[in-house]
Amino acid sequence: MTDRLTGLASRKSFFEQAASLTTPDVPYTIICMKIARFKQVNDGLGDELGDKVIVQIAKRLQQTFPNAALLGRMAGGNFALLFYNLSENEVEHQITRLRDFAERPILLRREVIVLSVNIGVAESCSHFDDIADAIHAAEVALHNALSSRVKFSFFDTQMIADARASHQLENALRVSLTTQATELHTAVQSEEFFLVFQPIVNAKSKQVSAFEALLRWRHPKKGVISPTVFIPIAEQIGVMDLLGSWVIGRACTLAAAWPETSQHQSPRISVNLSPSQLQNRALIYQTVKRALDKSGLNPNRLNLEITESQEISSGMIETISQLRTLGCSVALDDFGTGYSSLMELNNIPIDYVKLDRSFIASIGGKDEKQERKALNMIRAVVSLVDVFNLVPIVEGVETQYQLSTCLDAGVTFIQGFYFSRPLEENNVATYLQTNSSE
Ligand code: C2E
Ligand code: CA
Ligand code: CA
Repeated sequence: MTDRLTGLASRKSFFEQAASLTTPDVPYTIICMKIARFKQVNDGLGDELGDKVIVQIAKRLQQTFPNAALLGRMAGGNFALLFYNLSENEVEHQITRLRDFAERPILLRREVIVLSVNIGVAESCSHFDDIADAIHAAEVALHNALSSRVKFSFFDTQMIADARASHQLENALRVSLTTQATELHTAVQSEEFFLVFQPIVNAKSKQVSAFEALLRWRHPKKGVISPTVFIPIAEQIGVMDLLGSWVIGRACTLAAAWPETSQHQSPRISVNLSPSQLQNRALIYQTVKRALDKSGLNPNRLNLEITESQEISSGMIETISQLRTLGCSVALDDFGTGYSSLMELNNIPIDYVKLDRSFIASIGGKDEKQERKALNMIRAVVSLVDVFNLVPIVEGVETQYQLSTCLDAGVTFIQGFYFSRPLEENNVATYLQTNSSE
């Protein structure tokens, strides 16, 4: 049975055909690929154009991998490839080719679509009972790549244990957050939730320009838990508005008390808004206004970070414009992942563009080709951002080499472990004192 849209094997048929195509004595490799945030791409473009993207990807797959024994479309933006007899080098070569072609911009009507993909690999030398297990293993590896925010990952048995543990944690969080939803204020007051602050530095003047507020949850039993784990759950169970309001209020209150730097300026505070918070215009407007009024923070010191994880609808554009009338600025976060139509930058009322960490991660890595690609992308985004009078910020800078690459590419505002990890609330003032020498 083939997939109606692409003519590739459907998920069911991929399992069936793979079973009849493989024998125990011929080594094989399964590669699963997922278009990052495909659902948002599809929602953003509409079904018809979304389908065209899929068809183009499928066509490119067939052209690029005539040597694959089987190609399948497993679901929405998920594809799978089966190869025989690949050497270690050849497997890596196929991964590079897959990334190269899948991430090459697609021109559709007047839109330039830049996709990003994640890849999971399983090889028969890991001794699976049958091919179905191997396909599942490639999917587990893909899941692992996604959750650890890396481009690709090879299956190993530890991943099964990790997946089980993370599932258990997720359930525990769900129970814990649900029972706390009505008493969230108590949880907040008992300091289970707290903010840490990571500096965004003007790398030319060496002055701290802003701090980004990052949320943490100190779970009574499980210790400090990452926001990437609990925020999606908080969204799902409908407590993100409440939690997000607390973040905005708390961040403004603390920032209002920060000391001035030697330039007689206090650093700004950058707060993340989750997509669900932008859905309710009246609520988010009131929340930000109240936080500013209550804290007395000068509105020009507040920046709001929104992600381009979904299509920025006309309703959201209006919400953003309204928030800006309060005097605060807005940054587009995680730029360059998933749905990014570069020209759209001109239509969204924003001030800053934060390039996603994945770009900078390839700078100074082993793969020179990826590095060149990332560098070209950084340069392209920086020049476009400049044309639109926006300010670029690069996050995830960890090394001196990455820093100088950014400076050479024309980026002044830098965030990353190179300057500092996120700081506890009490350490912000000290950090400012020690890092604001002329
Ligand atoms: P983000 O907004 O992209 O925040 C930057 C993340 O990158 C932070 O992770 C930060 O600790 C990490 N990071 C910064 N510099 C480096 C570096 O040099 N190397 C590496 N490897 N990582 C670096 P964190 O704190 O775990 O936050 C993860 C995500 O959770 C954030 O990504 C943001 O999307 C979300 N988040 C955090 N706090 C909030 C919040 O209050 N509200 C909402 N809606 N989302 C939040
Ligand atoms: Ca952010
Ligand atoms: Ca980001």
